[in-house]
Amino acid sequence: MIDDSKPLVPHALPEEVVLQAMSSSMEGLSSQEAQRRLQVYGRNRLPEAPKRSVLVRFLSQFHNVLIYVLIASAIVTAFMQHWVDTGVIVAVVLGNAIVGYLQEGRAEQAMDAIRGMLAPHAAVLRDGRRTSVDAADLVPGDVVLVEAGDRVPADMRLMEARSLKVEEAALTGESVPVDKTSDLVAIDAVLGDRNSMLFSGTLVAAGTGRGVVVATGLATEIGKISGMLEAVETLSTPLVRQMDIFARWLTLFILIVAALLLAYGLAVGHLPFAELFMTIVGLSVAAIPEGLPAVMTITLAVGVQAMARRNAIVRRLPAIETLGSVSVICTDKTGTLTRNEMVVSSLVAAEHVYAVDGDGYSPVGAVRWKEADADPRDHAVLSEFALAASLCNDAVLHAAEGDWRVEGDPMEGALLALAGKITGGGGEPFTTGWKRIDAIPFDAAHRYMAVSHIDDGGRRHVHVKGAPEAVLSLCAGQRMSDGSTGPLDAPYWENMVETLAGEGQRVLAVASSGALDADGRLTQGKLAGTLTLIGLVGLIDPPRPEAIAAVADCHLAGIRVKMITGDHAATARAIAGMIGLKNTERVLTGIDIDLLDDAALALAALDTDIFARTSPAHKLRLVTALQSQGLTVAMTGDGVNDAPALKRADAGIAMGVKGSEAAKEAAELVLADDNFASIAAAVREGRTVYDNIKKVISWTLPTNAGEATTIIVALFVGLALPVTAVQILWINLVTAITLGLALAFEPSEEGTMRRPPRRRDESLLTADLLWHVFLVSVLFAAAVFGVFFYALDKGYSIELARTMAMNTLVVMEIFHLFFIRNIYGTSLTWSAVRGTKVVWICVISVTLAQFAVTYVPFMQPLFGTESVPLFEGLLIFALGWVFFALVEIEKQMRLALRKRA
Ligand code: ATP
Repeated sequence: MIDDSKPLVPHALPEEVVLQAMSSSMEGLSSQEAQRRLQVYGRNRLPEAPKRSVLVRFLSQFHNVLIYVLIASAIVTAFMQHWVDTGVIVAVVLGNAIVGYLQEGRAEQAMDAIRGMLAPHAAVLRDGRRTSVDAADLVPGDVVLVEAGDRVPADMRLMEARSLKVEEAALTGESVPVDKTSDLVAIDAVLGDRNSMLFSGTLVAAGTGRGVVVATGLATEIGKISGMLEAVETLSTPLVRQMDIFARWLTLFILIVAALLLAYGLAVGHLPFAELFMTIVGLSVAAIPEGLPAVMTITLAVGVQAMARRNAIVRRLPAIETLGSVSVICTDKTGTLTRNEMVVSSLVAAEHVYAVDGDGYSPVGAVRWKEADADPRDHAVLSEFALAASLCNDAVLHAAEGDWRVEGDPMEGALLALAGKITGGGGEPFTTGWKRIDAIPFDAAHRYMAVSHIDDGGRRHVHVKGAPEAVLSLCAGQRMSDGSTGPLDAPYWENMVETLAGEGQRVLAVASSGALDADGRLTQGKLAGTLTLIGLVGLIDPPRPEAIAAVADCHLAGIRVKMITGDHAATARAIAGMIGLKNTERVLTGIDIDLLDDAALALAALDTDIFARTSPAHKLRLVTALQSQGLTVAMTGDGVNDAPALKRADAGIAMGVKGSEAAKEAAELVLADDNFASIAAAVREGRTVYDNIKKVISWTLPTNAGEATTIIVALFVGLALPVTAVQILWINLVTAITLGLALAFEPSEEGTMRRPPRRRDESLLTADLLWHVFLVSVLFAAAVFGVFFYALDKGYSIELARTMAMNTLVVMEIFHLFFIRNIYGTSLTWSAVRGTKVVWICVISVTLAQFAVTYVPFMQPLFGTESVPLFEGLLIFALGWVFFALVEIEKQMRLALRKRA
């Protein structure tokens, strides 16, 4: 058990002492012990910023100009003792607040669930094995491995550090990464100088390290700074904010018009104040789109959930809008377009080429030469392959129920499997006595990894694996089949690299050396010219079938797909062909890109779909180049160095599985399955959300305008009101929470991915929409007045005439909803008429409410209604159809003209 009585100064104590004090060992803790400590020390988490209380959230729903107006009206009507009016107004106010409160809660829940999906993981030794656990489950004493791009999950005393640099700005404000080592530092060193420590919340900028956890959760340095609470993201996007501002100005506009009408009605129309006042209140409620921003937020939340179901996790809400307008997707190859399930299929040595059998990561399979099994005793070079493959490796293979899995890089997993196949040991380690002295971790900039070891006989060895051109440039000779060293035959190797890569294989070169300085330390400079090439390893990483389909979908949707890979040009081209990318003849490599200036690159980038041997800096230039051509760019990335390109892209997309924490934090979207198909799905959802927002607006504004027009016309022309103020309030109460919301849940329209991407700066309030507002207003007013006068003409009472007019308005709103569901295609298809469950629930609710207000005896006196005879009811229904037909025909005329143009 840890002795907590004395405070520990881990940075100033040797690592063995710290390890002992934490009651741990180099092999880490057992799972049981970790579980026990979790109970004692609690989860490794910082408290979240406190949420607003239920009451505050409910009360904030009343903070809205319209609600103020309504509350004032309720007070005025109460003074006038018009209790029914007061009651209805209060019901409208409360109904609005309750619905707003529930909607907001739902949206927040959606975001919380998503946040949970992004919980960071940590690589830790448990029961002596490397495993990945939720970072919140780390406990003091755990031995944790970190690498470039990781967010440090807890405070740790380093036991091993290789080229480790950490950016500690979150803690110390120092933005330049600091070097970390396991050497102890002075006891009085300030936080920023404690180089033997890693602090929770800081970012590993380069290298790898291993340390023992000394503090978790609130006990960490960052936990002690109480101000560093997790920020809570607000549910908003530029579009919602824009609409919010629009709605506010519109409210002001309507209130001024309403005040003018009140003055006009009193001065010119000589109407009684009480009746006029209520009418003006009704008009304001009818005209102000008070619920619009809230419904848009719900639409976004529904979109976020839909994307999460398709494995695309939205980190920043505005990404949803951007995704819908993406016109080019720049994607990684490995793991995104391909499965990242690697298997070694060939080995090329100086004098022989071997084929390797086997499935998955199972370390069992034959290594064949000329169709016969090759015995390592006759082929000494195979043992060298096995040594290099297993030593120059940070991954671990686990056998779980006969299924072999990799912990770490899949390519390294495949190399471990290869070593097992060569030695025939079935995955048993054969380098047990070897001790690693130093390592140069893999980095996409130098493209190789090097390790130095002392073997059980005390001899020193260096092993290197990496991209062939990187490794070849370090080699002076090559291993021959008899074990001797021969001169390097560069043309032979280059030729073999092209051959393997041309088949779509990922090619690695492996090399070794016995020469090493006495200190055994590795530096990049020391390696040059000292290595002997063992040979090439060809790995197969098949394309994902769903990615092939998704690329085709993107092409149909007018979206270009570009592959930006660190792999060899020939491999990239072969895989691009299998995936169905366009322009597979043309490949631009990192070297080519370096030769182009920004203007030339902008042009070249447009016509090129394959970029090979690129480094993260090239990605940044490519994003900028494509953006300069007016394209909206989505870019994927996983490494710590990809962060700038992800930030720069319009939609930065990080890999959830193999991506670093740094990449995820820089991205707008994280793919839970690293799969390209999920990007295409996210674009589709992004388009759907945008469409739905458009539909919500296209339904709300004309409906409001139609209701308002009816009242204004009546006031100006001095006609009797066809719908009373209380009835208008009632309609708003029942439709705003049903019909208004239904569109937020609309599924993608057919053909969503067969349209070209929308322009990024496309305006929501188009001329088309304004025209639609006008048309619907006129049709609504015409129908309502038409029915009203028809009823009066038939000698019905004014109450019945008004009841019929009110029901006409609601029926038209329902038909308008069905019309708006299809803004791109025709609404006259079976699926369009069939609707969705949500639509029907809303329609049935509204219909029931209307039946209640029309026919239930106790409601009739309250709302001034009378039972509508069957024939008149059918007539109203028929009018809905006529309205539907008219707007649909008008839409078809517009679409037809547009097609011709
Ligand atoms: P993508 O960018 O599409 O994911 P990639 O994974 O091939 O492609 P990088 O990770 O930059 O891109 O790798 C570039 C090259 O470096 C690889 O083709 C391979 O030859 C070599 N390489 C990759 N990973 C390692 C590693 N762990 N050790 C040594 N060499 C590596």
